[in-house]
This record gives sequence, structure tokens and C-alpha cells, in this order.
Amino acid sequence: MTATPALTLVRGDITRQSADAIVNAANSSLLGGGGVDGAIHRRGGPEILAECRALRAARYGKGLPTGRAVATTAGRLDARWVIHTVGPVYQASGGDPELLASCYRESLRVADELGARTVAFPAISTGVYRWPMDDAARIAVETVRGTPTDVEKVTFVLFDDRAYEAFAARIGTPRP
Ligand code: ADP
Repeated sequence: MTATPALTLVRGDITRQSADAIVNAANSSLLGGGGVDGAIHRRGGPEILAECRALRAARYGKGLPTGRAVATTAGRLDARWVIHTVGPVYQASGGDPELLASCYRESLRVADELGARTVAFPAISTGVYRWPMDDAARIAVETVRGTPTDVEKVTFVLFDDRAYEAFAARIGTPRP
């Protein structure tokens, strides 16, 4: 493990990104869902879901635990792998920040195992799982900056202005 990766921000659709590995904000069933998950399976094609089903049958019958990550092929996406990670749900009582940090750490660990040098992340848990965007951005940026990895470039792909601004404020990137 060398240094920490360079961080970049993109506003847009993660399924249009080119990277060695694209991270999916999956749910623990690994069988697909809405949001990023649905978009990745739609554009990536059925091969990804077939591998998810096989992983589920072989190792994750009870579901992939929150905060863990696992890789499949990327099907038709412009990537070699999809890394599926399960973010924590933000409840009325709050959410466990350590589990959200674990999603980023574990995804980078899996990326290192694969030999991926470029990784694209969505803003995990900030959609259906309702994590407040500013806090999610803080955890994402701090965790990626604090994780030793051979990944050279991490791109956060933010779907809307609010998400982009939250991550830009954390990274210190000037507005385009
Ligand atoms: P979670 O269940 O972890 O909250 P979601 O997919 O519901 O996952 O949302 C995570 C974040 O991804 C949200 O900020 C959402 O706006 C964003 N998002 C949804 N679709 C895409 C996409 N195609 N590319 C990048 N980000 C997306």
C-alpha cells in the first residue's frame, strides 16, 4: 500500500464513468434495487446480477453485511469490476458513521485485491438510506484520505448539485 489516492469530483451518472472499478451502493440482498443500484444493473446488463446471485448462493445467503464489499464483473459498463457495498440506513436516531466509513475502506481493500488503480464512488447511503449529505461527504472524504491503498485515483460521482457542493466543500475544490 502506498499513499492515499488523488481525489476528483464529477457531477453526473456513475454508469457513464470509466474506471477500473465502479462502486455500487447495493443492498444486502445483492439482488438489485433502485437508485445507483438499479442504474448499474440496467446499464451493465444481466451478467452483473448473475454473478451477484452466484455470490449470494455461495457466500451471502443471509445477505452481505452492512459495511462490507464484494466484487463482480462490470458487464457492459466501462469498467473491469463493480464493487458492491452495503451502506448503513440513517434512522431517526442517527446512523453508525463507522459503518459508512467501512464501506469506503472495504471497497478500497477489495479494489487493492483486484489490482484496481482507479475507482469511482457514488455518495453511499445518501439516497433511499437517507444519510445527510454533508455528513456523508465528510465521512467519505476523511475515510478515503485516511486509508492506505494502491488505488491512485478516486472519483466521487455526484448525481446532483447538492451532492457535488457538499463534496466540493469537503475536498476544498473550487467551484467550476
Ligand atoms: P443508498 O441506498 O445507499 O442511499 P441510493 O442509490 O438510493 O443508495 O443513493 C445514493 C446516492 O446516489 C444518492 O445521492 C443518489 O442521488 C445518487 N445516485 C442515484 N443514481 C445515481 C447514478 N446513476 N450515478 C451516481 N449517483 C446516483
